[in-house]
Amino acid sequence: MPDESPERKPASSWTQERQRSAQESLVRSSDDDFELASRGLIAPGSPRQVIGRYGQPVWDLDAYEFLDDADAARNPPNTVSPSLWRQGRLNNIAGLFEVTPGIFQIRGMDISNVTFIAGDTGWIVVDPLTSEETARAALAMVNEHRGERPVHAVIYTHSHTDHFGGVYGIVTDDDVRGGTVAVIAPEGFLDAAISENVLAGTVMIRRAMYMYGVLLPKDPTGHVDTGLGKGMPGLPSVGLCPPTLSITTTGEEVVIDGVRLVFQITPGTEAPAEMNIYLPDHRALCVAENCTATQHNVYTLRGAQVRDALLWSKYIDEAIDLYGAEIDTLFASHHWPRWGNEVINEYLASQRDAYRFVHDQTLRLANHGLTMNEIAETLELPASLGEEFFNRGYYGTVSHNAKAVYQRYLGWFDGNPAHLHPHPPVAAATRYVEFMGGAASVLEQAQRYYDLGDYRWVVEVVNHVVFADPDNVAARYLQADALEQLGYQSESGPWRDFYLTGAMELRSNGTVLKGLPGNALGSGIVRSMTPELLLDLLGVRLNGPRAGHFAIEVNLEVLDRATESWTFGVANATLHSRRARRVPRPDVELRVSMGHFAAFASGSKSLAELVGEEFQVEGDRDRLEEFISYLDQFQFGFEIIMP
Ligand SMILES: [Zn+2]
Repeated sequence: MPDESPERKPASSWTQERQRSAQESLVRSSDDDFELASRGLIAPGSPRQVIGRYGQPVWDLDAYEFLDDADAARNPPNTVSPSLWRQGRLNNIAGLFEVTPGIFQIRGMDISNVTFIAGDTGWIVVDPLTSEETARAALAMVNEHRGERPVHAVIYTHSHTDHFGGVYGIVTDDDVRGGTVAVIAPEGFLDAAISENVLAGTVMIRRAMYMYGVLLPKDPTGHVDTGLGKGMPGLPSVGLCPPTLSITTTGEEVVIDGVRLVFQITPGTEAPAEMNIYLPDHRALCVAENCTATQHNVYTLRGAQVRDALLWSKYIDEAIDLYGAEIDTLFASHHWPRWGNEVINEYLASQRDAYRFVHDQTLRLANHGLTMNEIAETLELPASLGEEFFNRGYYGTVSHNAKAVYQRYLGWFDGNPAHLHPHPPVAAATRYVEFMGGAASVLEQAQRYYDLGDYRWVVEVVNHVVFADPDNVAARYLQADALEQLGYQSESGPWRDFYLTGAMELRSNGTVLKGLPGNALGSGIVRSMTPELLLDLLGVRLNGPRAGHFAIEVNLEVLDRATESWTFGVANATLHSRRARRVPRPDVELRVSMGHFAAFASGSKSLAELVGEEFQVEGDRDRLEEFISYLDQFQFGFEIIMP
């Protein structure tokens, strides 16, 4: 009989059986990751709670204490994949570590690592974490244990928030403007950092809440680990200090505070702008996020442009070729370092081959006519790669990375015209349920498959019942139960968090985020944005069908960017814009500061609130008001698991 209750359930007998065989497959002749993750410990993570601006814990080591239970080390709870449990325990080893003399890392105090390189008189900081709060705590910790030193440089290895967002916990704008701190990043960093999260910002952040399980309780039936690190900081203060030095070529050498840094740029790998850093005097290589103790994402499930697995593999090979003979230490901005020339070269080669294998084999099978889902179902790493823990699917998986490669080359369409123009979810669901003999009949049969442990099939068919009738409580609860077992079985942190968040929202009859404004651009990010990006954002917010025959032409002058003027307008229910142009008879002339224009473009302030010294309007103000009335406001609270 269906168990119609909204409570979280224990692991089914099928799930328990799966965990048992997964546990057996984990036994290796050698597993030194726990030794590597603990090596060089100077001090355990402190403070236990890093408190944020609302009094909330931005980081909370106590929340994950359940992973460190000595008994749980031997007997993982059967609601967690034993492999993910192992990864979660490794990511829970938090503290200040010596990587090699002169290089220190704080790990386990944010989703990412921050690295401190000791110069003659100060610190060079590589990747200042996600939040100002955790970055400030990290700097205090390294100063406490290794002596107080000023920060001379900050290096961003790449354009993802968890590698720059905490910068203002470490430096101030005055330090950077005054030239006492250099900020170094790969070419294209700023554009990549701010564009990725803006135009598709609301939907991407909403999906990220699923991917990182931010709404789930942290416990053995909830969020355990992201695979890449413990979790996302809670309501962090995020900023972006623009780089003062862009690295454009591989081999470029910079000396800071007596430390030689040689860069290898690797654009288009894990991020659009990324670079590795070779430290010849330390015989050490920082591989940014190009190599970590997991198979990474060729496609990230929160949604982003798909990455190039072939290029990624080739840049790892270039790193081996350039530096392989001259390194004894390898570290990255997630997970633990590796030591020893042979070990490092084997590790790099193995990761190189894992990305290349997924790329090549996906296309080989596609050229045989297999489609995306068929390839994902078929593909498996060869034992020589797949048995390495660091190639396993804790974050990315072979399954969704194979689909990513297919998508990159062939797109969403599998070539079967039956899939060219299907009914959208609700219309299809209604028809499916009718054809399958009605909701009661579907649920009865789905329950049979649930009892047989075929949760993948249950979620596929019951999804139709939920989309045909979201008020069908029995359907929602059965769907939640099946998603939950899939979550328990997942080795990948993001898969687990997606499944469990879906189950949670089905049980609570939808998202708790209803009404929460989306696309809130933090002021720390906004000041680095370009007018062009904000104009593009206005275009995305314009409600085409409502704008109808509306037309407007605006001349825009950006006060704090002396040379920047723009013209933009609306025609054909579409926004257009041009740089360095003015129309002769505009409807409106705007003279604005970037901050105020960002507030206008993101819709965080009304025209009445904006108008003043930093937002001067001349001309037809009514028409400007009408334009604003056609701009949509986004909200995070849209449903994903229900119609
Ligand atoms: Zn990262």
